[in-house]
Amino acid sequence: MPDFNRRQRSATCRTCEGKLRFYPKPLDEAAMIAEDETEGAWAHLNVNDWINNPHPPDPQENPAP
Ligand SMILES: [Zn+2]
Repeated sequence: MPDFNRRQRSATCRTCEGKLRFYPKPLDEAAMIAEDETEGAWAHLNVNDWINNPHPPDPQENPAP
């Protein structure tokens, strides 16, 4: 079950309070098993956050439901 932590995650940006989503970096299965922490990148869901207010995502992860 190497992909337990590789699900897409959602969070709220501390800078703009916009929605963020975490996209895991695609890896082959051996690399997935070997990694300690899921590699990937956060991105703003709202395109306006890219255009009007460009800044690095500052994720505050949403609590698990
Ligand atoms: Zn933001």
